[in-house]
Amino acid sequence: MKGRIDKIFFYQDGNTPDIDPVKIKNDLTKYGFDTCIEGSLFSNLDSNSVEKYAEMFAKSRVLNINSNTLNDTPLYGEIKYEKNRIITSSSSTGILYDALELSYIYYDLIKKELLKKNFLHIIFTNRLFGTWEDSDLRYHARVSLYSAVSIISSAGLIEAPARSRGYYFLKFQLGDIDDYSNMIENGFEKKWLDYGDKRINDALLNYVFQAIFYQIFGEPFCSNKNCCLYNAHWQEEIINILENKEPRFCSKHNLFKKVK
Ligand SMILES: [Zn+2]
Repeated sequence: MKGRIDKIFFYQDGNTPDIDPVKIKNDLTKYGFDTCIEGSLFSNLDSNSVEKYAEMFAKSRVLNINSNTLNDTPLYGEIKYEKNRIITSSSSTGILYDALELSYIYYDLIKKELLKKNFLHIIFTNRLFGTWEDSDLRYHARVSLYSAVSIISSAGLIEAPARSRGYYFLKFQLGDIDDYSNMIENGFEKKWLDYGDKRINDALLNYVFQAIFYQIFGEPFCSNKNCCLYNAHWQEEIINILENKEPRFCSKHNLFKKVK
């Protein structure tokens, strides 16, 4: 065992309408966890700090998924964009960030008195982030990163895991990625999550459990496709886990008994 959890803190970076931290908090309370919703990471920043973090976010952008060089000399407009995003909580469509760099920024934003060994910090963000993989020398979009702080992306949940092979085949045939009605008429079952889907919150709870297992055991994932700790690479796998509902965990990981 690596550690224990005395308390879990939730934060938000940006407007995340598909995430309901109160519901996630309530669900974790049922498993006996002490939790606290800290809210926006940017709520107490003065203008100098906004400037500083805007530059850090701009520098953490991935400019080319085939290169691990980041945006070391950001343009004025990019910093301004990030400043506006901090102030207005808007979303950052079409930008990929380096996950590790983001985790350093978030760590820096957490109140120093809360950086204790047995406290777990989970940040929900609408930023799309990725990690560089040496195996194929490119960035891969991710749903989550478990590190000194855990970060979970609602955009990553939708964009990172691949849709079914059938989806890509039909997309190729029909040529219109957004025309689901056309696809459904062709007998296609929509087995993926999209923005605004009511199941997103429940799916993200599974990633919160992965962060919890990482904090306690150092290993967030399970190889059982029916376990909520399964490291899904396909949208269909995420939907299958959601359809299982209870039990959420496989027998090996069914360690937290519901107390309510
Ligand atoms: Zn398991």
